[in-house]
Amino acid sequence: MSRYCGRVVLILLSVGSMAFAQQRQPNIIVIMTDDHAKKATSLYDGSLNATPNIDRIGAEGVTFRNAFVTNSICGPSRAVFLTGVYSHINGMYDHSRRFDSSQVTLPKILRGNGYFTAIVGKWHLVTTPTGFDYWKVLIDQGEYYNPNFIEMGDTSRYEGYATDIITDLAIETIEKRVGDKPFFLMVNEKAPHRNWMPDTTHLRMYDDREMPMPENFSDDYSDRTRAATEQDMEVRNMYLSSDMKLYMPENEPETGTGGKATFNAKADWKRLYERMNIAQKKAWDEYYKPISDAFYKERPEGTKLAEWKYQRYIKDYLRCIASVDENVGRLLAYLEKKNLLDNTLIVYTSDQGFFLGEHGWYDKRFMYEESIGIPLVMRLPSMISRGTDRSELVLNLDLAPTILQVAGVATPQRMQGSSLVPLFKSGDVPEWRSAVYYHYYEYPHGWHNVKRHYGIRTDRYKLIHFYNDNDEWELFDLKSDPFEMHNLYGKPERQTLVSSLNREMISLMQKYKDTTVVQP
Ligand code: CA
Repeated sequence: MSRYCGRVVLILLSVGSMAFAQQRQPNIIVIMTDDHAKKATSLYDGSLNATPNIDRIGAEGVTFRNAFVTNSICGPSRAVFLTGVYSHINGMYDHSRRFDSSQVTLPKILRGNGYFTAIVGKWHLVTTPTGFDYWKVLIDQGEYYNPNFIEMGDTSRYEGYATDIITDLAIETIEKRVGDKPFFLMVNEKAPHRNWMPDTTHLRMYDDREMPMPENFSDDYSDRTRAATEQDMEVRNMYLSSDMKLYMPENEPETGTGGKATFNAKADWKRLYERMNIAQKKAWDEYYKPISDAFYKERPEGTKLAEWKYQRYIKDYLRCIASVDENVGRLLAYLEKKNLLDNTLIVYTSDQGFFLGEHGWYDKRFMYEESIGIPLVMRLPSMISRGTDRSELVLNLDLAPTILQVAGVATPQRMQGSSLVPLFKSGDVPEWRSAVYYHYYEYPHGWHNVKRHYGIRTDRYKLIHFYNDNDEWELFDLKSDPFEMHNLYGKPERQTLVSSLNREMISLMQKYKDTTVVQP
């Protein structure tokens, strides 16, 4: 009798757990790269490179064509993702701040609702990660070669290339997780952040071609405000040492301002180079030494130097992305093999966009398209229709509410974005935002000398106000001027449009409770 009862209990338990397995919350993986421009994702623009694995996520799920960040800079943007609120609410305005880790975050909520939560890779928020059952993060920006990681407080050096190692750690974390909980895993890549050091296996990629230069590479900023003229992010001023990886003579000074003229780029480059082991240095020297020798033989100047720097920059940048894409493929293949792929929400995105020579620039910060636009694709067959393509204006602010809805957890009132779940299938969505609000703060401190500004972007127009040590406005018609070369602000025939955009912007500032500037 007791044996029979035991069997019944076992059968009931196994039926119960099957039902639970079918209904359980999906796993969630967010792959967030650092500075990955849309233009360098073939799903958005195939003119530069191919990213078949990232493209696969979009092709089998949803692609957001107009996804933007609210403050285009690394740490602050990551804070927006974690908290679901603007910088002026979460306090991480810029890199002079430390993230207040006592506030409510997405991982904390998920952890409290049955998820195993973990983060591997870049953190860049200064304070210790909170809300994670497991964390293993790079120190500050981290290094491409043989990086140091802090694992729950303990530091160790890893031999190898950061993008490969972060993927290994992601897979190990999934393997080692305790219990049968669904997991939330943030895979935060260092790549393709400056100084764009490719893996040794990708060094020769793109050697057989000249990369196309953006049409506005030689922009003279004549039809813009002082902000565009006074920045320090021009490709022509990149460092010859850490950016171009030249073997500079010991007594030759660095020539580029590189975004911060006081920064000792030569010393920093020496530090990064010296991290490499013998085999890595050998591969590196075999490739870069002849390039360096040829440079010092010719010593290009002026436009020729700027164009040479662009080719060197864009190729190293794209080589770093090649590694990212291969590792996305490796992670997807692992999930497929473990039968986890279809029950896992996969999100691929970047912490912001990046200038790839447009306006003659690298870096981000400005409210211009290349900087605020991000790649954003998601895959979860049970909720997202294959091949869904959306052009609504969406924000990194929306990611936390989206993930919470997918997990079946209520979004706290504090969060300011909107869940993207209604956009997971084709068809009209009755109510969606008609404009996005942006605010950048890192000035006059920090890098690149980009003035403080805020603004509004609709599907066609953009209005920006630069403030702090200046008071200038820019208005762009993205339909007739997609590369934002002609400031229409101040033209009498545009006055009605400016007033209407201004009204909408003020109402967004009120909605999001941004009182950090005196409203116009
Ligand atoms: Ca970044």
